[in-house]
Formats: sequence, C-alpha cells, structure tokens
Amino acid sequence: AKQAGRNAFRFFTPAMNLQVRRRLELDSALRNAVTRGEFVLHYQPKVQLAGGHVVGFEALVRWNRPGHGLVPPNDFIPALEESGLITEVGRWVIAAACEQISDWSARGIDPGHVSVNVSPRQFVTGDLERDVLGALANHHTPLGALELELTESSLMTSTEATIATLTHLKDAGVQLSIDDFGTGYSSLAYLRRFPIDKLKIDRSFIREVARSSDGDAITLAILRLGHSLELEVVAEGVETAAQLQYLRRHECDQMQGYYFSPPLPVRETERLLLARPTL
Ligand code: C2E
Ligand code: CA
Ligand code: CA
Ligand code: CA
Repeated sequence: AKQAGRNAFRFFTPAMNLQVRRRLELDSALRNAVTRGEFVLHYQPKVQLAGGHVVGFEALVRWNRPGHGLVPPNDFIPALEESGLITEVGRWVIAAACEQISDWSARGIDPGHVSVNVSPRQFVTGDLERDVLGALANHHTPLGALELELTESSLMTSTEATIATLTHLKDAGVQLSIDDFGTGYSSLAYLRRFPIDKLKIDRSFIREVARSSDGDAITLAILRLGHSLELEVVAEGVETAAQLQYLRRHECDQMQGYYFSPPLPVRETERLLLARPTL
C-alpha cells in the first residue's frame, strides 16, 4: 500500500465523484441565484369552508434556473438548508411576499392573507424577527396580511427567545401556523406555550381520508385538537371531491390543494383574484 494518505480521492468511485461534483455545482449555482435574483414565488389559493371563497394564499418558491427551467423547491431547499444559504433566500421570500401584498393592495386587489414557509434554520441562525418586521415596514404591508408557516422542529426547542420572537411577531399582526402538523415532534405542550393561530394537516394524512379508517382517525384527531384549542385548522393536498366532502362534514376551516388550484404564477393569481372566485 503505497502512500495511502496521499490521495484521498482514490477512495471515491466515479459515481461518487460525479455526485460530489454535481453538489458543488449546485451550491455555486445557488449562491449566484441569490445575487442574480433567480427565485420567484407562486401562490396557491386557500379556500374557506363556508362558501368556498378564496381567503388567502401560500407563497411557494421556485428557482428559475438558466438552462433548467423552473426548479421545484424540493430539489434545492435541502441544499440551501445544509449550506446555510436558506437564511438569505428565506429573507428574500419574506420581503418578496410583503412587496407583492403591498403591490396588490395599492391596486385595490385583496389577496387575503399570504403565508410563507419558514425553515428551522431561519429561526436558529437567522434573525427572523428583524427580517419580518423590516419587510413589513419597508413595504408598508397591510396589518394582518402576512402569515408564517412554521414547522414543529422550529418549535421543539422552547426557549425564552423563541417565545419572545413569536410574541413580537404576533404583536406586529403576523399570523402563525404550524405546517405539516402531525409529522414532527410529538410533544403538544408547545401549542399552549406559543401564540399559534392555525394548524395545517399534512398532505400524507389527507391522502388517506375517505380511503382508510386510520387516515380518517388522525385527520379527525387533529381537527378536534385544533378546535378545542380554538385554532383554525387547514387541510393541505386536497385532491378529490370525497376528501372535500369529508373535510366539510368535519368543519375543517380552510382547504388547499389541486382539487381547487395548483400554485399559480403572479399574473394568474391576479386573474383569479380579479374574478372574485368561488372555487
Ligand atoms: P409544503 O409547505 O408542505 O407545501 C405544499 C406543497 O404541496 C407544495 O409543493 C404544493 O405545490 C404541493 N401541493 C399543493 N396541493 C397539492 C395537492 O393537492 N397534491 C399534491 N400532491 N401536492 C400539492 P412545492 O411548491 O413543490 O413545495 C414543496 C415544499 O418545499 C413545501 O412543502 C415546503 O416545505 C418547501 N418550500 C416551498 N417554498 C418554500 C420557501 O419559500 N421556504 C422554505 N423554507 N421552504 C419552502
Ligand atoms: Ca407550507
Ligand atoms: Ca405543508
Ligand atoms: Ca407537507
């Protein structure tokens, strides 16, 4: 065995090598994407149980990567989270949503509330409170229009700092919801400690609704829990009339999913809003 330590790369198979190279390319392309402004937001309507009116939207990021078309978030958010760039992109998402809300509102278009997704990393390393309050002030965003979708893992470490941040955001009129509820940490104690407004039932449970009794049971349990704590409950990933019927019967407050509409680019979102739709 000659010079074992000399060339560590000899342990990489060609396939691993390609994987590593691709990853390095992705990271560098993402760094450029931030400075070049290659991200865009699409908006998926949320529909109210009563009347089927559109009461808000979830803003979902896409990467308009040159030569690759529109890249979905699952293909790049994990890389952003690992490299820490998510803090910067997350800040852009918050600012872009606030700017869009204000732009619509200046033109007499009312989108209702607009929610943005917040990564756990933004909580820990970023300055979420400053980013949000700064964006609201910069863009003169109407009070109560912005909502943050937090994950259970963001709320796992229940420090005084977390409570203070959430309380300050709440005081500034920001609504708080817990995304993918039921898939994360199992302690429910934080629901009483934090000023939460809404629970979003994860798509994996909605998929089982009206199909298996276990799926029904979890969805039902979340609806009951949410309502007994006086929280609004939102279902994501609603795809069928049977699911809609079930959720109606059990008084789910808001629904979101391909059954109503996929996430839409800005122009199509405006067209939808101007038509004052019932979906
Ligand atoms: P999520 O927060 O759970 O968002 C819902 C995802 O489900 C979206 O995928 C949406 O397009 C998709 N969806 C909506 N209705 C249906 C349906 O009826 N059926 C099915 N099969 N899917 C449906 P998308 O836009 O690809 O986003 C994927 C994930 O990427 C999001 O999951 C979220 O975790 C993350 N993400 C998106 N935008 C951001 C962002 O700005 N910041 C952060 N940190 N994460 C984001
Ligand atoms: Ca979400
Ligand atoms: Ca979700
Ligand atoms: Ca989900």
